[in-house]
Amino acid sequence: MRTAFLAAAALAFASPAMAQLSGAEQVMVSTVEDNFESDVALLERLVAQNSGTHNHEGVRAVREMLVPEFEALGFTVELVDQSHAQRAGHLIARHAGAEGTTRMLLIGHMDTVFEPSSPFQEVYREGDRLIGPGVVDNKGGVVTMLAALRAMQAAGTLADANIVVVLTGDEEDVGNPLADARAELIAEGQWADVALGFESMAARDGVDMGVIARRSSNRWTLRTSGNTGHSSRIFSERSGYGAIYEMVRILDSFRRDLREDGLTYNVGLMAGGTPAVLSEDLLNATTTGKGNIVPDSAVARGDLRALTAEQTEAAFAAMQEIVDDHLPGTDAELTVELRYPSMAATDGNRALLDRLNAINADLGRPEMPVFPPSERGAADISFVAPYTDALAGMGPNGRDLHAEGESLDLATIVRQAQRAAILMSRLAAEDY
Ligand SMILES: [Zn+2]
Repeated sequence: MRTAFLAAAALAFASPAMAQLSGAEQVMVSTVEDNFESDVALLERLVAQNSGTHNHEGVRAVREMLVPEFEALGFTVELVDQSHAQRAGHLIARHAGAEGTTRMLLIGHMDTVFEPSSPFQEVYREGDRLIGPGVVDNKGGVVTMLAALRAMQAAGTLADANIVVVLTGDEEDVGNPLADARAELIAEGQWADVALGFESMAARDGVDMGVIARRSSNRWTLRTSGNTGHSSRIFSERSGYGAIYEMVRILDSFRRDLREDGLTYNVGLMAGGTPAVLSEDLLNATTTGKGNIVPDSAVARGDLRALTAEQTEAAFAAMQEIVDDHLPGTDAELTVELRYPSMAATDGNRALLDRLNAINADLGRPEMPVFPPSERGAADISFVAPYTDALAGMGPNGRDLHAEGESLDLATIVRQAQRAAILMSRLAAEDY
């Protein structure tokens, strides 16, 4: 049974500019609308199965539910083991189409932040919203992807399309080492011409927005050392300034000297004393010290996010220069961990959004403006962005992601699946 709200929504989508769509595109628009209730039913089943990243059995159960969905569309499914990275594994589905046409990579994930220990497990519908753990992030994204592919199949545009789907099982807490955990995704990114990320759509004040960029996400560790001794000798040639003044000098210079647009760097943890020791998991530090002892060590951990690879590199180089300018009698070492690369706002990404906006115009919908990159965190699509043109935020929109009460705006599944189906069909018809 179709709800009243959808009938109204469908009406709002239809008419004025439908003439701008080809016959196949009109079939896709109506197929997505016709399949709406069965897509929501699939989404409810997926959300009802807990798949917290560390609930490997749960993630694999979700994967088992998705295998037949892709097989029914003519995809060949491969299950990628990730037990060596202490994770549940990935799903890769491949659809071979006509030779020489655009190679498309669709990205989503099967895990959620809600482990079985979370009190938030139930899925339920409230009017035009669906509430449940991972209902947007990212199960709603996966269902949107499937809805788009089903529409393409119905319209006959899937047959010739070259598509690879990668659904990771550890997006919310990536396995270790990271290079292993993302090896398959990166390989598919190197194959692809275009990558579409089905994480949640950005929207502001009811306006759907396009995501053409996301910042890098990196970590750093700073360790300083000094000569311990009686506090009365601090600043003397033999004692020097101690490890804590050196740490504070460096962090304060970071704050004053490195600021620029699109760049942020946070210090998340700091400890100093005689000694200060960072725990093996890098999440704790222990220290002891006294006011009358010059401290011999300090440690700090932080992150760094930037718009481009160049900005990331330049910021870390500037940090290193500050680190090397030691106070007397001290030393310091900066260790950098590059994790998620930037998805930079390239011309190629802008051109993809232009294509999506041409589709919006043909659908009689308003243009999707560019969402500010500095407000969008890193995601799996970041790993392939260096190799492909990419659009993120192709999934549905919702509220309270990663929080109890996460909820999905159901109508955005329809809008996003229609846009994605037409975009992929147009791309599949050409040599990109
Ligand atoms: Zn998430």
